[in-house]
Amino acid sequence: YPCDVIRNFSIIAHIDHGKSTLADRLLELTGTIEKKERGLNKQVLDKLKVERERGITVKAQTASMIHNYAGKDHLLNLIDTPGHVDFAWEVSRSLAACQGALLLVDASQGVQAQSLSVFHAAKDRGLTIIPVLNKIDLPAAQPDIVAAQMQSTFGINPDDMIRISAKSGIGIEAVLQAIIDRIPPPSGNVNDPLKAFLFDSLYDQYRGVVSLVNIQGGLLKKGDKIMSCHTRKKYEVVEVGIMYPEEVPTASLRPGQVGYVACNMKESSEAHIGDTLHRVGAPVDPMPGFKPAKAMVYAGIFPVDSSDFPKLEESIKRLTLTDRSVEIMRESSTALGQGLRLGFLGSLHMDVFRQRLEDEYNASIIITAPTVPYKVIYRDRTVLVSNPTDFPDVNDVASHVKEVQEPIVKASIIVPEEYLGDMMDLCFNHRAENVDHKYLDASEATSARIILTCTMPLSEIVTDFFDKLKSRSSGFASFDYEDAGYQASKLSKMVFLLNGKPVDALALIVHRTAEQEVGRAWVKKLHKVIPRQLFEVPIQAAIGKRIIARETLSAMRADVTAGLYGGHHERKLKHLNNQKESKRKMKRVGSVELPQEAFYDILSSN
Ligand code: GDP
Ligand code: MG
Repeated sequence: YPCDVIRNFSIIAHIDHGKSTLADRLLELTGTIEKKERGLNKQVLDKLKVERERGITVKAQTASMIHNYAGKDHLLNLIDTPGHVDFAWEVSRSLAACQGALLLVDASQGVQAQSLSVFHAAKDRGLTIIPVLNKIDLPAAQPDIVAAQMQSTFGINPDDMIRISAKSGIGIEAVLQAIIDRIPPPSGNVNDPLKAFLFDSLYDQYRGVVSLVNIQGGLLKKGDKIMSCHTRKKYEVVEVGIMYPEEVPTASLRPGQVGYVACNMKESSEAHIGDTLHRVGAPVDPMPGFKPAKAMVYAGIFPVDSSDFPKLEESIKRLTLTDRSVEIMRESSTALGQGLRLGFLGSLHMDVFRQRLEDEYNASIIITAPTVPYKVIYRDRTVLVSNPTDFPDVNDVASHVKEVQEPIVKASIIVPEEYLGDMMDLCFNHRAENVDHKYLDASEATSARIILTCTMPLSEIVTDFFDKLKSRSSGFASFDYEDAGYQASKLSKMVFLLNGKPVDALALIVHRTAEQEVGRAWVKKLHKVIPRQLFEVPIQAAIGKRIIARETLSAMRADVTAGLYGGHHERKLKHLNNQKESKRKMKRVGSVELPQEAFYDILSSN
């Protein structure tokens, strides 16, 4: 396939606007996959179980197809992009291997927060954008109104928009034609030295790490000796091929092509996203690389049964082979024993990882409250703190620390105008600043939509902000955010004391304005979950020496069962049944005995 019949493209859209469905239709119409009975949505590209269950795409997948158009076979390479704000990094990575993008907008929903961010990401890279209005089969579809909206927000001519139903198959042929007609072919000369851009990697049980590459110049084939610009390591190519949609070996990969290369890489860290590969002895200028993925949400993960730690560590290592954006460190806690501290791109990313861990490895885990990375600035150095345990105590902050800073994001919310008041309220409750809003629709639409922008501490949106946003807007609000650096803030470490002894795994970083509320809520929760002891146990939230909140757990009577009945019948019964087992898992905090499962109850009800 010479360059002029190759097209490399992505589908970009707000979540649920139909990327995966359209990808399936394109693969079907080109005969790459077989057509199933109508109504069945295969979503071939969403491979992971959790993706299928949640209907989200976590990991970008690549597939090639062949389409005969104007008497010529064309090789179309689709790079699927994830549809959630946490994965913006994967989106930009995928776009770097493309010349064009289909911008998909749901005709019943209109332009949403992530339609804007993905549009700008594609525009900034100079990609040709093909606007597509999807779901025109829906009775609630308003293609004309949404087309006007796209014209006013993106400056796109309505005549260029293709109206389709990815579900029923209307307009798919026109999409294929537009890909070939409008997107420029890639450039690259087969006689140039080999230059391959590494934009993704997968893990194969038999072949180890397999890299996905886009050939910028030259030819890549079996037996070639290649070298990484980044690691300077050398490899011999074992196999090359295209994703059709599974791996299909080919004789070579030519300029403009997208495909895989297996070359006996042992560690997934060797396949550095954004790297450039060249032939040994024929160096090339590397492509501008990517900023590495930056973990923004950290949490400790511990096995419920401490003796399971080696298994947990092994499981996590295997999972991270297919998800390179997770950062791993060892961590140990007096209360929870040995565990791992993981860094994620965002809270959905963390959730998805947890679910994969539970699904695929059958692991019972305790996960601590999420924390963002804080900057603690001393006179002579700056320390990045991603674990509340490492955060200096108030006294140290007062005497040694110049300033504490927290990560800030620029948030944008798109919402029908009648919810504006509620949304402003929600933002202010989450320490929003620089709040601004403007109309998204140029026309006097019946239910005009507003785009609300503000800056907010990242820590405010990593827990339940998204759920609140959805419920307070009856599901109509969409949300996106981008990194906006760090900002000075009044933050303290809050610790929880049982009978005067701190429980390290429960420490939190809290903003001054939230101390009371957070302290009270956690102390209440602990009071509910911690089983009674033979003596009275004060449960306290403290910042330094200052006690913020307190509850008292009364003593149980010497007669064990009598004491255990009462408030939480069911749990206590379970507790009694498992007494032998839970004895083994008892943890001590000072003189207080805690079953490890109590931590599970405390931390899983965040
Ligand atoms: P993604 O998140 O962008 O990948 O979206 P999906 O392809 O998973 O689609 C989200 C939902 O919209 C699924 O329930 C699809 O069946 C549905 N959907 C996708 N395209 C259409 C369409 O053209 N018409 C209708 N009625 N539903 C669609
Ligand atoms: Mg999808």
